[in-house]
Amino acid sequence: MSHDCLFCKIARHEIPAKIVHEDDEFLAFHDINPAAPVHLLLIPKHHVASLASITADDQPWLARMLQLVPELAFANGCNPLPEGGFRLVANTGTEGGQEIDHLHFHIMGGARPWSKRAAPAA
Ligand code: AMP
Ligand code: ZN
Repeated sequence: MSHDCLFCKIARHEIPAKIVHEDDEFLAFHDINPAAPVHLLLIPKHHVASLASITADDQPWLARMLQLVPELAFANGCNPLPEGGFRLVANTGTEGGQEIDHLHFHIMGGARPWSKRAAPAA
């Protein structure tokens, strides 16, 4: 299925991004307006509007997507535990602050202080 949303276009390499991971199912790239020293976005390559549209059929790939999160965080500058760590955010819907209607995980970390917000700026 072909979609015209921004993240589908990034997934198809039609719009450039600073990609840090790509496989058959997922793409991770740097957020263009970082809210933390490390701020990645992880998306499924296929179009999914948000977490609100997930069903039981999505469990296998969603579990694989979640498993990628710590791997990508620590491979891209988040500091190791216990002092380090990362923040995982999935803004969902208008009141959830979602601006791009293609499921994405914000993965944020790095030395504090940095904003508690998950982008965009208030
Ligand atoms: P959200 O508000 O959760 O929908 O987050 C959308 C995020 O996408 C924001 O943090 C934006 O900074 C980011 N963003 C928008 N356009 C791009 C782009 N072309 N490349 C990378 N990140 C982007
Ligand atoms: Zn899309």
